[in-house]
Amino acid sequence: MSKLRVLVGVKRTLDYMLKPRINPAKTGVDLAGQKMSINPFCDIAVEEAIRIKETQKDRVEDTLVVTAGPSASEQILRQSLAKGIQRASLIDVGNKELEPLSVAKLLKATVEKEKSNLVILGKQAIDDDAHQTGGMLAAMLGWPQFTSASKVAFEGDKVVVTREIDGGAETLSSPLPAVITTDLRLNVPRFANLAKVMKARKAPLGKLTPEDLGVPIENRLQTLSVEEPVSKRQSIMVKNVDEFVKTLKELKAL
Ligand code: AMP
Repeated sequence: MSKLRVLVGVKRTLDYMLKPRINPAKTGVDLAGQKMSINPFCDIAVEEAIRIKETQKDRVEDTLVVTAGPSASEQILRQSLAKGIQRASLIDVGNKELEPLSVAKLLKATVEKEKSNLVILGKQAIDDDAHQTGGMLAAMLGWPQFTSASKVAFEGDKVVVTREIDGGAETLSSPLPAVITTDLRLNVPRFANLAKVMKARKAPLGKLTPEDLGVPIENRLQTLSVEEPVSKRQSIMVKNVDEFVKTLKELKAL
């Protein structure tokens, strides 16, 4: 059976518990002073890679977590190491915004450098909701992609993935290499214990730039505006039918 070299791509996003606020220029979400965390779908991807390492044991040669982002993204890499991922690598892009195509190119170069044969990504990043990186990466590598995975298993040299589809589930298999993108119900990510968190603080991280990987960062899209969702209509409590009719007339709805 071929050895598994698993690469997990993770993104640092606004913490999912926070309500996003639009920045004054209306070009995106205001991140100043906000809590940033690992994208929830990426946390599920990390958990799945650790479970594969635990269940497939000697078959797993490597688990590597990679992020492209500012240096502050180190935090989500260390968190993944504390949970059980073996190695971590930061592709430092400073404060440059990355479009999914650039991320996919950076991940492709990393997959080739690391000789990975299984890539696990989130199905979407909750900040851009792009849903693009996994598909672009699989296409550029020429690999099959399992989208919206809710179960991952292995049968000999094949990976077997159950996917969530409308009103049911579909199970597919393919030989490696492959890309898997995770859905919410794939697993429940673990918490790392304090001792492991402390140890991961000092763990070595690989650091690269897009230039090291030979990938120029080119953005093609320009954000024209970002709007808040339309606020819910105000409710008015009425005591009886007469008051209801009167209110409708006042609002010119009758
Ligand atoms: P998206 O296509 O932006 O919705 O992101 C889908 C998935 O691609 C995420 O859940 C991550 O697994 C991966 N990804 C997106 N951006 C990055 C990044 N900057 N670094 C590493 N992986 C990323």
